[in-house]
Amino acid sequence: MPTPPDEPRGAVARHTAYLPHFRDKVTNSRPIWRIEWGHPGFTHRTPPEPTDDHQPTVITRHWGQPAPDGTGVTWPYLHRGTCLGCAWEGPDRRLTDAAVEDAHDHTHPGWRDLPAVPDQRGRRWLTHVQHLYPDGWLDRGGPIRTVRTGIEKRHKPRAAPGGGYDLAVQPPRKVERVTAISDTLPLEFDGAGAA
Ligand SMILES: [Zn+2]
Repeated sequence: MPTPPDEPRGAVARHTAYLPHFRDKVTNSRPIWRIEWGHPGFTHRTPPEPTDDHQPTVITRHWGQPAPDGTGVTWPYLHRGTCLGCAWEGPDRRLTDAAVEDAHDHTHPGWRDLPAVPDQRGRRWLTHVQHLYPDGWLDRGGPIRTVRTGIEKRHKPRAAPGGGYDLAVQPPRKVERVTAISDTLPLEFDGAGAA
């Protein structure tokens, strides 16, 4: 949807404009775009600091209207991938995770091709990840991709070793299906397309 010319753009500007309305308790702040709770830059006190480089985050606002994409389904909230280093904003999304992925397309192009690693931590695991991922990737706040076999299927902010996102990759549902498509797809599951 078009943005009015006087409306702030980008995660930092929008969250900074939102904070006084959150505090005044008079204005209904729910329809005002702000950084989503728990995502990088979120705060209820001081305005977020812009980063020197492009770093992903998500903004959200209450919506409660039919979806902007014309499907007619009511979306309670809108979410957009955004950046703490510039005013870039992605498209409206129904789900936070879709917005997280948009943000990474902007800040960390190529993330979709990263190998998925087991969802477990430890020194050997970290060494393994550092070996698999590009040099300096984690230090630059880059995301990791982990295969989730437990109940937590969502992307997790600040859960990568360098403070970036831990992006969930769903394991194949059934072994039979993997076997059935192995003629046309690489046999080694790397999670491509599942994010
Ligand atoms: Zn940016």
